[in-house]
Amino acid sequence: MEMTHDLIVIGGGSGGVAGSRRAAAHGAKVAIVEADRLGGTCVIRGCVPKKLMMYAAGFAHQLADARGFGWSDVQARFEMSRWADAKAREIDRLETIYDEMLLDAGVESVRGRGRLLSGNEVDVAGRRLAAPRILIATGGAPSVDAIPGLAAAMTSNEVLDLREVPESLLVIGGGYIAVEFASILAALGSRVTLAYRDSFPLRGFDAELRGRLALALGERGITLACGVALAKLERDAAGFALHRADGSVVRAAMALNATGRKPNTAGLGLAEVGVQLNTRGAIAVDTESRTSVATIWAVGDVTDRVNLTPVAIAEARAFADTEFDQDPKRVDHRVVASAVFTDPQIGTVGLNEQQAALLGPADIYAADFRPMKEAFVGGTQRTFMKLVVDGLDQRVLGVQMIGPDAAEIVQCLAVAVTCGARKSDFDRTIAVHPTLSEEFMLMRAPVRRLAKAVQPLAAAVSG
Ligand SMILES: Cc1cc2nc3c(=O)[nH]c(=O)nc-3n(C[C@H](O)[C@H](O)[C@H](O)COP(=O)(O)OP(=O)(O)OC[C@H]3O[C@@H](n4cnc5c(N)ncnc54)[C@H](O)[C@@H]3O)c2cc1C
Repeated sequence: MEMTHDLIVIGGGSGGVAGSRRAAAHGAKVAIVEADRLGGTCVIRGCVPKKLMMYAAGFAHQLADARGFGWSDVQARFEMSRWADAKAREIDRLETIYDEMLLDAGVESVRGRGRLLSGNEVDVAGRRLAAPRILIATGGAPSVDAIPGLAAAMTSNEVLDLREVPESLLVIGGGYIAVEFASILAALGSRVTLAYRDSFPLRGFDAELRGRLALALGERGITLACGVALAKLERDAAGFALHRADGSVVRAAMALNATGRKPNTAGLGLAEVGVQLNTRGAIAVDTESRTSVATIWAVGDVTDRVNLTPVAIAEARAFADTEFDQDPKRVDHRVVASAVFTDPQIGTVGLNEQQAALLGPADIYAADFRPMKEAFVGGTQRTFMKLVVDGLDQRVLGVQMIGPDAAEIVQCLAVAVTCGARKSDFDRTIAVHPTLSEEFMLMRAPVRRLAKAVQPLAAAVSG
């Protein structure tokens, strides 16, 4: 079979672009196939525009706080259409940069929908590409089938293109995308109801963080319609009506479906060439991202491992280094820092308290306080920090925080957790004062000891 390239990458998002560039840097002749816009979910309709919307929302509280710090005549009105135009320009700029980066790397950019013809061939609108290796990085998309009627609601794709703040908004879902948009749109002036089935949002996160976030969202004026299963969504002249299992109905002018995402596997020709899916409908891969077909790899959200941009990038680079630089690498999915960009923010890395409790003895350290800036303006929001420490060897296995700048703070502490720092390393670190993060260095005695003695917990988070 005549090969046109050394590597064909399907999907020009976070994983695909990173993998193409790294493989090209190792000397491979690479083609990247993108059906929509270069940059993928993160740049075009995910992390980046969401964070730009979060920044816009943040001014609402800063303006309110400014009065407490002595500023007067603080009056401002948010014009979402101006934000939307500026956001569109910024996304265009970033997309151009992605295009140029691929060009500079010598990667051939092929526009169109890719479909596997065999373990070595891809069809793009009638053009046949062939290579000894294929990398699938097609990402995911919002799922619309959790309850009947969801298809009528906006998804995260459309909410990021709003040109007006909805007068009232029903956010359906309890995951990080749901709470982020609930928090952002409420700060921008929408009357937000957040509807989800559990008692608290963010299933899988530390229980204290979940409880404190629910409280904080309530204090920010968001109505939590929780603890009841959702039955169906209906659209009528007045807007949307969410019917719940207990017979209650929650109404709003607009609705956002944030019930989850599904891997983009349809139309790729996977079954025809023998690429197997797992029980969640994602492409099944081994620790080296290899699929059931020896010449095909898959990375990022389409594999539904840890669905975050830096993880997709790390998986793609590990693939490229392993296959094109004879430098075998694997991604460790156990210690991945992540953030929830609500107000207040959440930052987390490593084990939470509930995970630790299942594994072995642990010491829990915590700090719960009203930060100086908040106290000064008479605010009520508290900041909460937690360290999960191995009860046997004192390694810090988890850092959990809800409060201002939690994402930035936990990102830096993730280095310490990755390096295997012990509680004594935190204790001997001289703090920067006055900061919020210094509280992580000043936790003296555990607030709780989880007594189940089995083995050092470190085995759960590192090799
Ligand atoms: C609203 C939202 C907010 C998010 N916020 C964050 C955050 O704050 N931090 C974070 O780390 N992650 C965040 N994420 C998740 C992050 O965006 C994804 O984990 C990341 O984009 C996954 O990268 P990927 O390469 O797997 O897929 P994607 O970035 O989705 O890229 C896949 C690409 O493949 C293309 N494609 C699909 N099928 C084909 C085909 N057959 N042929 C050609 N091209 C195809 C698509 O058009 C797309 O461009 C967010 C996601 C959303 C939806």
